[in-house]
Amino acid sequence: MSGAVVDPVHALQEAVRARTTAGERAAFAALHESLATSFPRVFAQLERVAVPGAPWALLLHWSGAGGAAGQAAPLVLMAHQDVVPAGAEGAWTHPPFAGVLAPSAEGESVWGRGTLDDKGPLVVVLAAVEALLAEGFVPARDVWLSSGSDEETGGASAVAAVEVLRERGVRPWAVLDEGGAVAGGALPGVRAPLAVVGVTEKGSTVLRLVARGRGGHASTPARGGPVARLARAVVALERAERRAVLGPVELPAATRELLRRVLPQPLGALAARFPVAVGRLLVLAGPESAAMVRTTLAFTAMRGSDAVNAVPDEAWVGVNARIMSGDSVGAVVERVRRVVAGCGVDVEVVEPGEPSPTSPFSTGQDDDEAFALLERCTAEVYPDAVSSPYVVMAATDSRAFTAVSERVYRFTPLRMSRAQRASIHGVDEHVAAADLHDGVAWTTALLRGLP
Ligand SMILES: [Zn+2]
Repeated sequence: MSGAVVDPVHALQEAVRARTTAGERAAFAALHESLATSFPRVFAQLERVAVPGAPWALLLHWSGAGGAAGQAAPLVLMAHQDVVPAGAEGAWTHPPFAGVLAPSAEGESVWGRGTLDDKGPLVVVLAAVEALLAEGFVPARDVWLSSGSDEETGGASAVAAVEVLRERGVRPWAVLDEGGAVAGGALPGVRAPLAVVGVTEKGSTVLRLVARGRGGHASTPARGGPVARLARAVVALERAERRAVLGPVELPAATRELLRRVLPQPLGALAARFPVAVGRLLVLAGPESAAMVRTTLAFTAMRGSDAVNAVPDEAWVGVNARIMSGDSVGAVVERVRRVVAGCGVDVEVVEPGEPSPTSPFSTGQDDDEAFALLERCTAEVYPDAVSSPYVVMAATDSRAFTAVSERVYRFTPLRMSRAQRASIHGVDEHVAAADLHDGVAWTTALLRGLP
């Protein structure tokens, strides 16, 4: 093993101190400076490629043994630099941008916004590469490091980085970004931590239900005003969803494989044989498990009259549809229109987002070369964990890379307890120092193991 050329713990403490919320130019400059200080070889030896329109994106190219003539497709390692705001900073045990090293339930930890999402993972990647550079290691194929600067606010810099790769004719062998983790307490009744690798992610689509007409003075209201019609439509959609008629409950392949791997027999085998029945059971079991198997609808923003004594001419309700792989924007819009027909509202698509394609994964029958490598690294560094593919509920920057690579995986090689997972975008986000070291070991194994 490589010695401690670089201390990921100290590097992360420094990185957390740069308050890289959306648009904070000075903070991104400070973060780049701290990373270049912590990882001098990475920034001196890898080629930095500019990303047009995204000055704070980092795109670094590491030439591999098979790379010069371009015969071996590269690996892309991703982790974003931006963070969401810390919310009520007084509610944190340690201040969110101080980079404090202090104990937690998981052991001595770095505390602060971004320690898990996603500066910890970024530092892990950079520390692994730095240590390998120090010993003169050359990867078997090219490696690109791509670090977006606006993942939490749309991810345009990742899209721009993909455009740069496309122009250079780069078609990655595999892409690895945040998403799954070595998750403790992930499923009731399953004791082993689950090392879940996202092989697809749901699409996020924004719809609007709009009711127009019959506004006026609140002293002479007409029946069936815009708000009443909207209410009818919302209730109709929620009822339809409760009856599980809104969308197929055929389990996605990744969820079926997850259940096969983690459920005790004969439940796992049953899930594989009767996916529709198991899908319906999971829908009934609660909101989290329902989201694992199907498209969901959430009612979000609303707008009506600005005055309590005026009936609006137009009112709307925002609907955020999270679309499961196998489903589509077109099919969801059609189902929504069918359910609200007769309610007197229009259905508008504000922002469509299709689910990502599903990357290949190993099953009981077949191995995928790249997925199997991820599993081997996990078996080596986290021998107590069960690896599995799964469907990512949230959106990641990596979805942009599905345009240039068929293997896009979402996995952070860090242990995360249930409490740690809840702290992402919440309070008291922290990562254990020992886990950072394990993350570096995992990434090192991956880079050494590249075919
Ligand atoms: Zn993130």
